Amino acid sequence: RKADVECAMLVLGAGPGGYTAAFRAADLGLDTVLVERYPELGGVCLNVGCIPSKALLHAAAVIDGASQADEMGIAFGKPKIALDKLRGYKNKVVGQLTKGLGGMARQRKVKVITGVGRFLSANELEVTGDDGKTQLVAFRQCVIAAGSQAVKLPGFPWDDPRVMDSTDALELADVPKQLLVVGGGIIGLEMATVYSALGSAVTVVEFMDQLMPGTDKDLVKPLADRLKKQGVEIHLQVKAAGVDAQKKGLKVSFEPAQDGGKAPDAQVFDRVLVAVGRAPNGGKLDAEKAGVKVTERGFIPVDRQMRTTASHIFAIGDLVGNPMLAHKATHEAKLAAEVASGAKKEWVARVIPSVAYTDPEIAWVGVTENEAKARGLKVGVGKFPWAASGRAIGIGRTEGFTKLLFDEASGQVIGGGIVGVHAGELIAEIALAIEMGCEVGDIAHTIHPHPTLSESVAMAAEMFDGTITDLY
Ligand code: FAD
Repeated sequence: RKADVECAMLVLGAGPGGYTAAFRAADLGLDTVLVERYPELGGVCLNVGCIPSKALLHAAAVIDGASQADEMGIAFGKPKIALDKLRGYKNKVVGQLTKGLGGMARQRKVKVITGVGRFLSANELEVTGDDGKTQLVAFRQCVIAAGSQAVKLPGFPWDDPRVMDSTDALELADVPKQLLVVGGGIIGLEMATVYSALGSAVTVVEFMDQLMPGTDKDLVKPLADRLKKQGVEIHLQVKAAGVDAQKKGLKVSFEPAQDGGKAPDAQVFDRVLVAVGRAPNGGKLDAEKAGVKVTERGFIPVDRQMRTTASHIFAIGDLVGNPMLAHKATHEAKLAAEVASGAKKEWVARVIPSVAYTDPEIAWVGVTENEAKARGLKVGVGKFPWAASGRAIGIGRTEGFTKLLFDEASGQVIGGGIVGVHAGELIAEIALAIEMGCEVGDIAHTIHPHPTLSESVAMAAEMFDGTITDLY
């Protein structure tokens, strides 16, 4: 069969990994085709992930800020929420970005084909459109960026619209009176923050012994405290064991995660959001027909140049492994496109920052205290509580802190964690410090603007350096 389209570079999937790879490849002179199942570009991140969730979290922050204004003698009254308008705001934000991508693809003459792609051989992909029609694309090189999807817990009545994954929850169909969030990770807690602000009574159950498992416990505490203060019920070491879909609601039974543990009684909820992780899409592409190895779980192993076991086929983003984050996908995308265009490069970034855009935000990068302990690393910790920050006091948000981890022998920064408003913005400085091999003095002696939350990074360095022994 003769190919319908021939190209130097084929990119499969138009999420942050895929569109970045396609644009970079085109900029570097490769004749590029981008295949995406959905008519909108942008993948999970732009359509049903990072962007809509942050638009809704902004609305939650506005509600929360207004409720705090009372303390300053400013009264706004109880918020009236026009759900259609809020949904419209979120959709407008998403639409602006996805339309922008369409324009950027046209500018670069990236040919976009809408349909589901499957490999037929090492140089051929078949794309099936909604109408069932197929196109054969022949390629010289390829970047697979087909991403991931939410894990659907087995045993849940998924055909009941009251059982939601994160995509459904972002639809904002209504504000349930009683919402259960199964899974206390980043996505579950971001959505808990949104729905709690909109007025839902939210219950969170988490299987492990803390929220955001893997993150240092001290970073999570201020968030857990604030959620509880807002009335969010949190049950740790508990699993949702079964859901009985009744007319009046979803009756959920719980079990302790371990024998001998405690679990709450069964309760009826109006909606249940399941946010227990994401699974890679690598297993659905017939990638083996192209000579690409796929693991049992659906990940595609790659080398330091993002090459798969077929050396002319690269893979990037969520389907090559954790952390499943958009900025990791875009970094890998540029690397893959540049290597495909002949650059002699490989992965050199030392760290990938993580952020939970909850309220307060939690951000961390590099080595965590948990990890330092587990690896037996000799680390020094500088920790600055925001209760001593003029800016944090001024905005009424003193519950945060900033901590830095240093290699004890060299004084080099190897990790950092921040909890507090805008932690996600502040963490970039620590990522840069680690990438540049900064020592504690480099940060402590860098003049930070006053009064800002960014000063807390320098203060944390000073705390470790011994430059200050007392807080001021
Ligand atoms: P994806 O974005 O998953 O894109 C893959 C694309 O490939 C999709 O468009 C899919 O339709 C397409 N595709 C798959 N298979 C085929 C096929 N066979 N044929 C054609 N097309 C196909 N990350 C952050 O960094 N910050 C955040 O704040 C953040 N918030 C999030 C909030 C939520 C609710 C969720 C669910 C995720 C969030 N993430 C966040 C994670 C982020 O969305 C992902 O890490 C990112 O989208 C991964 O990009 P990707 O390019 O690997 O894949």
